[in-house]
Amino acid sequence: MTKHDQLHRFLFESHSVRGELVSVSETYQRMLENHHFPQPVQQLLGELLVATSLLTATLKFNGDITVQIQGDGPVKLAVINGNNLQQMRGTARIDGEVNAAGSLRDMIGNGYMVITVTPTEGERYQGVVELDGDTLAECLDAYFKQSEQLPTRLFIRTGMLDGKIAAGGMLLQILPGVQENSEDMFDHLVQLTATIKGEELFTLDAKEVLYRLYHEEGVTLYKPQQVEFRCTCSRQRCADSLVTLPEADLQEILHKDGKIDMECEFCGMHYIFGKKDIFGEKDIFGEKDISEIKVVKKE
Ligand SMILES: [Zn+2]
Repeated sequence: MTKHDQLHRFLFESHSVRGELVSVSETYQRMLENHHFPQPVQQLLGELLVATSLLTATLKFNGDITVQIQGDGPVKLAVINGNNLQQMRGTARIDGEVNAAGSLRDMIGNGYMVITVTPTEGERYQGVVELDGDTLAECLDAYFKQSEQLPTRLFIRTGMLDGKIAAGGMLLQILPGVQENSEDMFDHLVQLTATIKGEELFTLDAKEVLYRLYHEEGVTLYKPQQVEFRCTCSRQRCADSLVTLPEADLQEILHKDGKIDMECEFCGMHYIFGKKDIFGEKDIFGEKDISEIKVVKKE
């Protein structure tokens, strides 16, 4: 039986290693409802979803993380965005044939992974790694090695449960300021964690999973957080992006279609803007007072 999506944080107090365990199957299913992606793309998005959920849970502040993979293969872009409330969304852009048995490399071609961390207050920062691993987990390992962050390992599982797609994962991270000799213990915990099976993550309570993996270690398990599919798009955000387009282009679309129909590529929501919404009451091809423009560029 599927369990509800939750993220659990835990701690090996005597080893100064923290962990996370997440199940995202419902979120994953909801995310794919609006799309018709081939199976390998669905799987890639599931893996990205798990990774983004685990990474977002390491944030010490309010904000969001976008993990995207882009390249010159048939899958131009696969992207997941999640925030500190564990509200997740994602999509992909495909142009060409995706081989059913295709590897990450076959889908993406030459490409890279971009991780963008956007605090609600403060500067955003971005890390980029070339895609030279065979799996997303390998690329993430490369990212953590390159970015000189705390030693971190992710364990990602996707699969099927009761005829539905399912996904979950775990993360281990050495706490800041810990002595080097703790790395042997970290490696030991990594080896134990690597034995986790998808089905265990999809079906078992967190307590049970931790007991199976680490029954000889002392582990503190914290209160879980809900994970859900939620798109953060809005009419205002669409309006904000509309005003970055040249006015002549907007006028041309309005003239041709009588409206501007913006579809959110994450959730499929349509936002319709009429002439009045954009240029006020007057005929947009006539003279107009600048003060009547309702959607205006922010200075
Ligand atoms: Zn949306």
